[in-house]
Amino acid sequence: MNKSDTSISSDTSDIALTYVLPPLPYAENALEPVISAKTLSFHYEKHHKAYVDNLNKLVIGSDYNEMPLEDIITGTAARPERNAIFNNAAQSWNHTFYWQSLSPKGGGEPPSSLKQKMEESFGSVDACKKLLSSMAVSQFGSGWVWLVLDGEKLKVVKTSNAENPVPTAMKPLLTIDVWEHAYYLDYQNRRVDYVNAVLEKLINWEFALQNLSKK
Ligand code: MN
Repeated sequence: MNKSDTSISSDTSDIALTYVLPPLPYAENALEPVISAKTLSFHYEKHHKAYVDNLNKLVIGSDYNEMPLEDIITGTAARPERNAIFNNAAQSWNHTFYWQSLSPKGGGEPPSSLKQKMEESFGSVDACKKLLSSMAVSQFGSGWVWLVLDGEKLKVVKTSNAENPVPTAMKPLLTIDVWEHAYYLDYQNRRVDYVNAVLEKLINWEFALQNLSKK
């Protein structure tokens, strides 16, 4: 951690905090049995909350106070002296995006316009899902797998730790968290079973389509 990242105010109790933990879009038990309420409560209330809390402490008095998360992520990416701010801003953003990438009514067939785009880019919906699964499994250590729009085509990319496509020209459409904390209580070392169950039962194609349609 860089010295400038550790200049944390000793008393923050009277300061209105800039970043808030967004509410989950569903109940903590809504993704069972694929993701247990226990996993979701730890993941949201402990991990996600800690990233937001840390970010609030780190940005006080810095140039990044009150900036939109995307601007912080882009502004601190690939700047080692801003690594702590980057990690906590990106992980705050990534988790909010991940909760939206899942739905209790997810899985199944993508909406037709997304399906057509998937067929153009990968050959079939199944080929896209297989690629999401294999890229998730081959990510070494902690990270994320993403469906993105790159130019006119869809792509699957993976990132390490807190990294995400936000600072790039690629538009993120959905993500799956492959940090061990996302699945270890339910699946232990079987990341592939977690990812495949998410793709079959929870993945929110509607959210991907909304992102695809955004200017
Ligand atoms: Mn996570």
